[in-house]
Amino acid sequence: MADLKIWMNGRLLPQEQAVLPVNSAAVFYATNVFEGLRAYWNAQDGELYAFRLGDHFARLRESMKMMRFTVPYNDDDLFEAVRAVLAGNEVREDVHLHLVAYVLGPGLDATTPTGLYINPRRRPRVAEGQGLACCVSSWQRTSDNAIPIRLKCGANYQNGRLATLQAKADGYDQPILLDRSGKVAEGTGATLLVVRKGRLVTPTTSNDILESITRTTLMEDVCPRVVGMEVVEREIDRTELYVAEEAFFCGSGYEITPITSIDRFPVGTGEIGPVTKRITQAYLALVRGQDTRHPEWRTPTYKRVTL
Ligand code: PMP
Repeated sequence: MADLKIWMNGRLLPQEQAVLPVNSAAVFYATNVFEGLRAYWNAQDGELYAFRLGDHFARLRESMKMMRFTVPYNDDDLFEAVRAVLAGNEVREDVHLHLVAYVLGPGLDATTPTGLYINPRRRPRVAEGQGLACCVSSWQRTSDNAIPIRLKCGANYQNGRLATLQAKADGYDQPILLDRSGKVAEGTGATLLVVRKGRLVTPTTSNDILESITRTTLMEDVCPRVVGMEVVEREIDRTELYVAEEAFFCGSGYEITPITSIDRFPVGTGEIGPVTKRITQAYLALVRGQDTRHPEWRTPTYKRVTL
């Protein structure tokens, strides 16, 4: 997978040829919506499984709707595009994909044409085997009536960029953002779960978070099955972070990423906790298909199937 090609509007192009015009809204205002997902290579099956592909397509469509993009693609078109970029690059290892729908014209006209590209890339696990040192950011999560985080548009990520660069300047790995009422929201590209008084707790979808597909996977399957804990959705106070037993981020890119300190308070013992460890192992086995439960969540990208 040396030189990965980008799929752009039906063509597989070398990276340097997949370019956008500088006067497009896509470039100037970051007028795009996107999905980030992983596909996992299962050597035993000789198959590359894209995790919850249909859910990512559905969320891309929701983002396009909220942005009033014209939507020229159905799920079959999107699936064929994903298949084309993976097969075209002969990908036989884990890969992370960005699917990006963008606006070419000036961007204030709902009928302006959109394009689509898919960028496959290697992406190692975040903080493999280690926990992150996080801070609570003084940057507030953008809110639902400003730039909604439920909508996955590129411009939203300026909020996370400000918070990340501040966190790094202050000597932390990653920020945790609070919502408009000062309650815990999420990380910059990941949802947050904490263990508090023996219960798994996560902010609600009205706390300015993305409706995370990984969060849903943990709630629907992994947490109740593996650690016997239902995930409680409720508002979380900042100070609860300081006294939580465990904390971790989850997301398609972040998978399960432990947090071992917040504002320099150790989370629990300051080591990766037992609940986080068990959830990590179970999640990774599920996405790769070593755990064969929920085959409907793993779309084989080499075998011919319909979504
Ligand atoms: N929040 C934000 C802002 C994100 O960008 C992501 C990554 N898509 C997540 C949460 C996690 O969402 P998912 O589990 O669907 O990848």
